[in-house]
Amino acid sequence: MSIVPTLKRLVPTIVTALVGAVLAPEPAHAANIPISLDLNIVRPALPNEGYLHFMEGGEDLTGWIDIRNPAFYNGADGRSTTITNTTDPRGLGYDRSDFQVRVQNVVVTDQNGVTAGANRASIERDYNVASQIYRQLGISPLSTGNVDARYGNVTFPVDINSFAEVNKLWAANRPGGNTVPNYYVRDFTPGASGVGAGPNFPGVANNNGGTAIADNHFNNALAHEVGHFLLNNSRFNAGADTAHSAVPADLMCGQPPPACTSFVIGNEPVKSDISTQFQRLNGAPSQPGQRVGNIGGLDQFSAPVGPMGGPFTTAQIDAIYNSASVVRADHGATFGDRADFNFVEDNIPLEEAAARPGSNQRMVNHPGFDFMVWQINAGAVPPPLDEAALGHETPAPDLNLPGFNGPFFRTADVVSLISRYADMDVDPASLNWSARESALDYILQFSADGSNWVNGLPVNVFDLGWTAASQAEDFLARWNSPVDARFVRIQADTLVSEDDRNTQIDAIIVSQTLVPTMDAPPSVALLLSGAIVVFTLTTSRHLARRRVSRRLKTQ
Ligand SMILES: [Zn+2]
Repeated sequence: MSIVPTLKRLVPTIVTALVGAVLAPEPAHAANIPISLDLNIVRPALPNEGYLHFMEGGEDLTGWIDIRNPAFYNGADGRSTTITNTTDPRGLGYDRSDFQVRVQNVVVTDQNGVTAGANRASIERDYNVASQIYRQLGISPLSTGNVDARYGNVTFPVDINSFAEVNKLWAANRPGGNTVPNYYVRDFTPGASGVGAGPNFPGVANNNGGTAIADNHFNNALAHEVGHFLLNNSRFNAGADTAHSAVPADLMCGQPPPACTSFVIGNEPVKSDISTQFQRLNGAPSQPGQRVGNIGGLDQFSAPVGPMGGPFTTAQIDAIYNSASVVRADHGATFGDRADFNFVEDNIPLEEAAARPGSNQRMVNHPGFDFMVWQINAGAVPPPLDEAALGHETPAPDLNLPGFNGPFFRTADVVSLISRYADMDVDPASLNWSARESALDYILQFSADGSNWVNGLPVNVFDLGWTAASQAEDFLARWNSPVDARFVRIQADTLVSEDDRNTQIDAIIVSQTLVPTMDAPPSVALLLSGAIVVFTLTTSRHLARRRVSRRLKTQ
């Protein structure tokens, strides 16, 4: 944890010295870049621009922005008539981590011909909520698709007084490998949202295990039951019901509300129903999530676990990452080099989890409190990636630029990403979730030699990013380096009660030219009404253009 306090002392001092009284003494936290530097345009290219090369090793995890809801299934394989094919091609998309839990959905018909009511809206909601919850651990739950199945030996309601009936569900229509088997049924007796158990839980036949969800269920039921499967036979220090946590806000709390707060998603609209310029429609629940500002705080993974009878000394995140169904990949060698919606992430909460004594350290690719570093190495920047081969459906083709080949650079455009699930950054005034704060959630420094670092100076924020085809890369910040730089380093910002302490960076584009702050370009002025044009011509051009820029953003 030594890096963060050092930076907090360092940042205001340097900025004051360099900028003096010209600007307000804003620290170089990207989150505090003045709104006056925003332009509601797509990023204009830099002179002789090119990509820096990401130095693998500083990233905690990798991932990408996909246009498909995490429950995506389009019916093409004919396994189910239940289609869950919502996409968000021109919006924020859906961030996906390369740490994943893959889940297959079976929509069950019982022996009387009664079919579970699971549908597009309910299944997509289950995965939306589960993605928001598990992204706190760096994990993305993803559906491998839906399957229709009739059971001649199961009758609704499914009797859960013992494992006998659910074992029949779990005995058939199982996915291969480490994919979690999830079964949608009409209902249970006695009534319940769902059931779930891992392969080694007592009563589970043939080391199968799985989950089952009733039509009428809490929003976090899929996340909770998948938690049972991943935790397998890990137990909580919670009296008689050792399969459940005694902590009310824990995902694995087992009682209906109000005893367990995690089952009720409070102030849900704060993150999902806001669509102003800076607080854009997100579609994910504000709760659960990390506690940042007024949002987040429920569905935590705080209670430790252990074997039956204790000691309960294993962190829940370690127990979950011990499951073979949490699959991990590291694309740090290629994902930080090009503007292609594939990102490298710095994640301080996961670094903290990996730094605990006894941690299995599987929640990060590279343990340690370190920066992500980029440098000039044109030969190391890969060509455009084969997104189809990676299983990605990104919002647009990549920005096809060469690796930067100059001796040094003075200007850098940071392609940072807004993550629907990972980002919980809030606007400091309203404490609502903010797309701008979620993009500008990092600290940036330049270096000539790779060992002495100085803070970058923000020049502009291009609100439309580098392409109009997506909102995920909006609020792209341009920085000047005070030195002839060969290196850039970035860490997640840590402003208390504003930042979630994770940041996703897609690429860094640089130029040897020291490009100054731009005012609104002529193309924006052309959009003005006649009345405002008259106002522009009769007052300071500079001030009028600022006013125009703001006006356009609020429409
Ligand atoms: Zn439970």
